[in-house]
Amino acid sequence: MEAADGEIEALCSIWEGVHVESPTPSERILKLKIKSLEDETTSASVVVEMIVKEGYPLIPPQVTISNPRGIGEPEFHELRRKIDRIIEENSDEMPIICEIFQECSDYLTENQHVNMDCSICLLSLSSSPIIVTSCDHFMHSMCFCRYLTVCLEEFRKEIREAQPYMKEKVDTNIVCPVCRESLTEENTIQNYNANIQKMIKETKQKQKTLRNKKRRASTTTEDVQNTMKRWHEEQRRLAKIYEKQKEKGGIIDIEEDKKRREFFIETGTAVVEEEEDPVI
Ligand SMILES: [Zn+2]
Ligand SMILES: [Zn+2]
Repeated sequence: MEAADGEIEALCSIWEGVHVESPTPSERILKLKIKSLEDETTSASVVVEMIVKEGYPLIPPQVTISNPRGIGEPEFHELRRKIDRIIEENSDEMPIICEIFQECSDYLTENQHVNMDCSICLLSLSSSPIIVTSCDHFMHSMCFCRYLTVCLEEFRKEIREAQPYMKEKVDTNIVCPVCRESLTEENTIQNYNANIQKMIKETKQKQKTLRNKKRRASTTTEDVQNTMKRWHEEQRRLAKIYEKQKEKGGIIDIEEDKKRREFFIETGTAVVEEEEDPVI
């Protein structure tokens, strides 16, 4: 797992919050919610999960992407295809973990909010101000406020019609209209009215208008891209040296090989650290 671990180390120095698990000595599971580079509440994101097994990079990683937020359905499928292409086209078996994470981030930055419809009214999200829920679902703020008002009326009706001993048991919490995740937790029949009115008010205050156009990749993307490009060039160069050495008689000095690997890991990490300042 040496090749994979070296690259995972570099990955963790570029991306914050990568969750790495080692269920067995010959398997690594990486998980990260990747966001587009504009750090706003409306940033698009996907969850990337990667299983890397012994034999990588000869054995390609298994990549799953899920929970698309802030990107349309066609773009999500396109991203999936782009990842598949990176894996398919990697015939020279180069490390591709970092490349895949980078591709996701670049793609989200370039394609977020394009062709996205409101989950409630199904009209384009760019047509009027939007709101992003705590579960990262995007909808028009007007549609969401209308949804809250409908919920409020339904709760009132339900409480009115409930048997006296059942009134307290009426669930007055608001759930996301898309994924049903709870958006309130402490609503009771005493406070639900005030809480929901407050949510409506806050929704109107927090609403944002999407700039529904393709955005140019930011300088940060370019920095990371350059770092990754150098990382790949270095890997290709070392791979060539290794091939030449093998051709020369196939004698591989284990100590020399180990040293080279250490150099390779250090080089990779050093380049990344060097780039950290300008990124910030
Ligand atoms: Zn809508
Ligand atoms: Zn949701």
